Amino acid sequence: MTKSFDALILGGGAAGLMCAIEAGWRGRRVAVLEHADRLGRKILISGGGRCNFTNIHCHPENFLSSNPHFAKSALSRHTPQDFIALVEKHGIPYHEKTLGQMFCDRSARDILNMLEEECRAANVQIFLKTRIREITRPSGFVVRTDDAEFRTPALVVATGGLSIPKVGATSFGYDLARQFGLKIREPWPGLVPLVLNSQDRSRYCDLAGVSAEVIASCEGQRFREKMLITHRGLSGPAILQISTYWKSPQEIHLDLAPSHDVTLAFRDPNVPRNVSSLRNELRKHLPSRLADRWLNGNAPRTWTSAALAGFERQVHNWTITPAGTEGYEKAEVTAGGVDTDELSAKTMESRKVPGLFFVGEVVDVTGHLGGFNFQWAWASGAAAGRAL
Ligand SMILES: Cc1cc2nc3c(=O)[nH]c(=O)nc-3n(C[C@H](O)[C@H](O)[C@H](O)COP(=O)(O)OP(=O)(O)OC[C@H]3O[C@@H](n4cnc5c(N)ncnc54)[C@H](O)[C@@H]3O)c2cc1C
Repeated sequence: MTKSFDALILGGGAAGLMCAIEAGWRGRRVAVLEHADRLGRKILISGGGRCNFTNIHCHPENFLSSNPHFAKSALSRHTPQDFIALVEKHGIPYHEKTLGQMFCDRSARDILNMLEEECRAANVQIFLKTRIREITRPSGFVVRTDDAEFRTPALVVATGGLSIPKVGATSFGYDLARQFGLKIREPWPGLVPLVLNSQDRSRYCDLAGVSAEVIASCEGQRFREKMLITHRGLSGPAILQISTYWKSPQEIHLDLAPSHDVTLAFRDPNVPRNVSSLRNELRKHLPSRLADRWLNGNAPRTWTSAALAGFERQVHNWTITPAGTEGYEKAEVTAGGVDTDELSAKTMESRKVPGLFFVGEVVDVTGHLGGFNFQWAWASGAAAGRAL
């Protein structure tokens, strides 16, 4: 059985659905081929089930890519306000949680329902449980599945990255890019908890559950947010953010008392210079258990002003060398991907293979935590959808 469409979209996640909707509304005959038994599984589990669907403070600096300018065009033509307008058109209640992060009041299901409704209205055909066996390009693209053959002049790859294989992530997009001779920037897990080396693990990991506001920095990037101690290492927003920039065996620097001078009290000659006073001071800025534990390993050897100044520097620059990350099983995104040199920033179309498009996470554009990855999915999907 052969079916023909103006455009075929591989992958029914955030980017693929947005692309299909945009092209469908423009009158194109569009089909989405999805290998899972339902659309948008990642949307459903996103944002703790409430989907942080965009961020109103979205700037190109919130994205990591080998070409920092690449995302600008798509992001400027489909903004957070455009997506919010769609959410409002569907009467979905939402709120700003913090730092511009927009969440559903009820459930991520609202966002998926909205996208499915838009697909229906735009006459997009959806094929679920579709296993793609082969893609060739005799003239136009031919996609063979287990029980059908699809023909199209425009093929959009929206199959996402490698993170969370248990909800359907595959290397399909990268494999297809390679098949057509496109360069890949080797993927790595991003927005992922870090595993501490064995020494730090035995020193700190029994404090699992303790959290503190820190500044985490690496590779010239810094994030002031919460850090959480886990059973194997560190997590929490500050760590997830910095993890995308970290590559083994680099160090990560942690400021444990941002904007505070923990040894200030010792300028008063009446304050005794000893461990117990220092512990009290540190406890003002860190949870007691973490303050005590950290002090165990880092107390000053003497109580001179120079030694206290050294301690102060250390508090603001706790240097760790993680053993690794928790990998794709726990990563919220996959960094790296189809090299942006290969694609038009305006349309996401391959420069080498006309008619072949890549959108969303499979492209070498990775957002910070906080709704930026969905914003990239919507914006890049819309950019391609307008060009189909
Ligand atoms: C736990 C978790 C929470 C997250 N929370 C947020 C959040 O709150 N805010 C935010 O901005 N980002 C969040 N993200 C990141 C965000 O979900 C992704 O960046 C976004 O979904 C990427 O969209 P995409 O369409 O490119 O890929 P995906 O949404 O992953 O969609 C890819 C689709 O392609 C399908 N597919 C894969 N291989 C094949 C194949 N061979 N054939 C056919 N179909 C295939 C998949 O089943 C999937 O439906 C979260 C991620 C995770 C894992």
